[in-house]
Amino acid sequence: MQLTRTDIYVDGRWLRPDGTGRIPVENPATEETIAEIPAGTVTDVDRAVAAARAAFDGWADTTATDRAAALERLHDALAARADTLVETIGLELGSPRKFATRVQVGLPLRVLRGYVDLARQPAPAETIGNSLVLREPVGVVGAITPWNYPLHQVIAKLAPALAAGCTVVLKPSELTPLVAYQLFDAIDEAGLPPGVVNLVTGTGPVVGEALAGHPDVDMVSFTGSTAVGRRISHLAADRIARVALELGGKSANIILDDADLAAAVKAGIGNCLINSGQTCTAWSRMLVHRSRYAQALELAVDITAGYQLGDPFAPATRLGPLVSATQRERVRGHITRGLADGGRLVTGGPDAPVPDRGHFVAPTVIADVDPDSALAQEEIFGPVLAVIPFDDTEQAVAIANNSRYGLAGAVFAGDEERALAVARRIRTGSVDVNGGSFNPLAPFGGYKQSGIGRELGVHGLAEFTQLKSIQR
Ligand code: NAD
Repeated sequence: MQLTRTDIYVDGRWLRPDGTGRIPVENPATEETIAEIPAGTVTDVDRAVAAARAAFDGWADTTATDRAAALERLHDALAARADTLVETIGLELGSPRKFATRVQVGLPLRVLRGYVDLARQPAPAETIGNSLVLREPVGVVGAITPWNYPLHQVIAKLAPALAAGCTVVLKPSELTPLVAYQLFDAIDEAGLPPGVVNLVTGTGPVVGEALAGHPDVDMVSFTGSTAVGRRISHLAADRIARVALELGGKSANIILDDADLAAAVKAGIGNCLINSGQTCTAWSRMLVHRSRYAQALELAVDITAGYQLGDPFAPATRLGPLVSATQRERVRGHITRGLADGGRLVTGGPDAPVPDRGHFVAPTVIADVDPDSALAQEEIFGPVLAVIPFDDTEQAVAIANNSRYGLAGAVFAGDEERALAVARRIRTGSVDVNGGSFNPLAPFGGYKQSGIGRELGVHGLAEFTQLKSIQR
């Protein structure tokens, strides 16, 4: 498989980038450099935005059915590459194969398929009194994405943007850019009109800032950290461009006294550890009623022991490495600080055995965590669970809402009505009750500092449109 790439994709063609800079791509499980990609420049962004701008009127004028057909061709071209995509995400991110197949690649294919269906059935124009209310595409979209779900985060922007009639310039994460190249191979094969989708790889401070601050970009759709989201907002504010921000989280899993404890702890650990804890919605705080607390910790030890760490391509592996050495050191630092702040190590820890090579951190459970401490407040983005006891439901809700984030959460209770009543009080964009499964058609996004706007499904499509009223 050819991993090193030298070009960017602009106006329907692979092009030499403006500069000669290169960015190495590492395999986080082996610490070897496996490829290089271009470090794009401001000139590359200018060229890509100009192509997207030139393509906009034509693409916006196509029918929704034509756009559905183009998205379907893209879906099929991508699905035909599924094995390569799984392997690539295994190499550049260290995702275990089963997880990469089911989630990293399976989920975006489902999302893309969902947008083919939505584009085929456009909502009829609304009439309000003497007004005809139209939804029109926002324009040129700058999409900036992170490394943790490198295909899904891109598709969650690209598919609705294209379905709405927008054109796009993508800057993927420089840590996991290889799968984006394969996506653009599929885009090329699917024969989308030139300029409708463009790819410029590079760093955040150069390519990301140039895109977010570009006068001809009408909307910036960003997924990543809250700190960078804030910066993007500032850059877009100068020209009053629209922003959609999908940012960090610190989600709480509330386990009430009458919950099925084994199921709740198993689901809670699983959710916290998926993708080695590098998931924005990870339930990284487990809040357990004091009457079940000791038993929950015993279960947590047993369940965590089942998460085998190691080579992402070995069939038994359930947890891969963290994405980079920097990330590993950050996570280990958080664990050390959490213990210094009074947390009690239940399993794992900064010195627990891990493979010699690769950016591994052992799955770690820390009990008696102070809800105000850094471990309970900061997004750690690693396989680290903070467990906190509570005495009554009021206190559980208060602890869950004691966060500057508001992305996701969970409630487990014996009685579903009781769980739903608590779910309504959690200030987050989504809550799963008694293990309710992820729904890729439901709106996804955050309250508070977890973001602005929603992705996925019909609400994600609406983000890329603006309303026009015509009075008759
Ligand atoms: P990051 O914010 O460091 O980077 C995200 C993207 O922004 C990358 O492409 C990066 O190159 C770019 N970037 C960096 N600095 C920039 C700048 N100054 N201007 C413009 N672009 C810039 O985030 P990350 O480390 O790649 O991803 C992890 C973060 O993403 C976590 O905080 C996680 O919670 C968040 N995330 C959120 C969601 C969600 O849907 N809410 C989903 C996945 C990840």
